[in-house]
Amino acid sequence: MTRNLGEIAAMCGGQLKSAGDSDIQLQGVVTDSRHITKGCLFVPLAGERFDGHHFAGDCLAAGAGATLWEKTKGTPPGPAVIVDDTLVALQMLAKSYLGQTGIKVVGITGSNGKTTTKDLVYALLSTTYKVHKTQGNFNNHIGLPLTILSMPEDTDIAVLEMGMSGRYEIELLSKLAEPETAVITNIGESHLLQLGSRKEIARAKLEILTGMKPGGLFIYNGDEPLIRQVLGESETKKPDKMKTTTFGMESDNDEYPSGIMFLASSTLFTSHVGGGEPLELPLLGEHNVLNALAALTVARHYGVSEASIREGLGHVELTGMRIELITGNNGVTILNDAYNASPTSMRAAIGVLEKMKGYRRKIAVLGDMLELGTSEEAYHREIGASLMPSQVDELFAYGELAAHIADGAAEHLEPATIHAYTNKVELIRHLISILHPKDIVLIKASRGMKLEEVVDAVKQSS
Ligand code: ATP
Ligand code: MG
Repeated sequence: MTRNLGEIAAMCGGQLKSAGDSDIQLQGVVTDSRHITKGCLFVPLAGERFDGHHFAGDCLAAGAGATLWEKTKGTPPGPAVIVDDTLVALQMLAKSYLGQTGIKVVGITGSNGKTTTKDLVYALLSTTYKVHKTQGNFNNHIGLPLTILSMPEDTDIAVLEMGMSGRYEIELLSKLAEPETAVITNIGESHLLQLGSRKEIARAKLEILTGMKPGGLFIYNGDEPLIRQVLGESETKKPDKMKTTTFGMESDNDEYPSGIMFLASSTLFTSHVGGGEPLELPLLGEHNVLNALAALTVARHYGVSEASIREGLGHVELTGMRIELITGNNGVTILNDAYNASPTSMRAAIGVLEKMKGYRRKIAVLGDMLELGTSEEAYHREIGASLMPSQVDELFAYGELAAHIADGAAEHLEPATIHAYTNKVELIRHLISILHPKDIVLIKASRGMKLEEVVDAVKQSS
């Protein structure tokens, strides 16, 4: 975003510290004092440990052109726009920028698959439009406005991931970005601890409709009855003349797949709506077919041709660590899904492992799934109990909760094939000692378990 300080004051409802600063030209908005760029607007936010206002002087010295400044924080060290609350001002700035530029927004939420679906939608729309997407996982009340403010003025469509950990967070993001198209990938169990029930999770996700543009299109996973139920609740706010369409595995959806075939590192399927020759999705797993169906629906809504859709699927660039297929130094195959885990995504990943053919042994390294609330032990035990010898030859459970995966696994797996660890180094030592180049190893747990350390160790073992 390029604006002068006077324009910025008007956009975020603030006051110039001195009227003479109005013509200062600013380019870009930065909240992290370590990443100041020349002529940017520095927005100091108050975090848990630091208050950005303390760094404003350094940021100006490092090249920032001006800062936003909360009126209770004393005198700003340089050119500034004085506001009541810098976070709210950042959000207003982003909303106003969207309004001025007329960039259309596709908003994507759901328990799992947001980032993947966002990357897929981006790849498909990019064949035909100038598109900008959320980088990495910048999907919250700070990341979303920063994403918007980093978009070039001539962007046609912004593909924005909307994340949450409790009620009314998606509402805020939706009112800020006012999506024209909204996608709910699925309802899982992530954040059950904060929300209490899956229905409440569904209500939180459907908040994406609160800020949606009138006449917008709502694309949702029709296999999940909770979405339909909550959509029918009278207290669910939705825009006038909203259109809806569903995708899913079941053939009562508007869009569903047939003839799914898993290849070594891609998946073939035929889209019900598109028909014709199967599409090749360069990702593994049935769950990714679902993400792709959502993305196809978005692309067709914006008039992307079937030929362009095929082309776009060939150019998908994924954000790392989401079921990445890696070959280790000694030839072992790694399914790296260490990015995060919840019961839904754990089942999805085990489904991928099951479908992988031609390996000597299938090894699963499964760690704790965090933030599941009071039923956390039961969720872990259920995952374990669902494991069949056809899916997993050796199980390595890592963590105190994952010990319940190991317990549950005793239902169908041989005890000698179940290994439970609370010490990562010992787990790695044991795992590496049994590895064979023809093995495939799935590695998955919640972010906090840092299983990428296991991925690295397996990768480097020889
Ligand atoms: P986060 O909440 O951490 O931002 P996300 O919703 O963006 O997650 P992704 O990063 O796309 O989700 O995928 C994370 C993991 O969830 C994947 O590695 C995969 O195991 C699983 N997953 C992805 N899509 C689905 C889906 N549609 N259904 C079930 N599991 C999925
Ligand atoms: Mg994400």
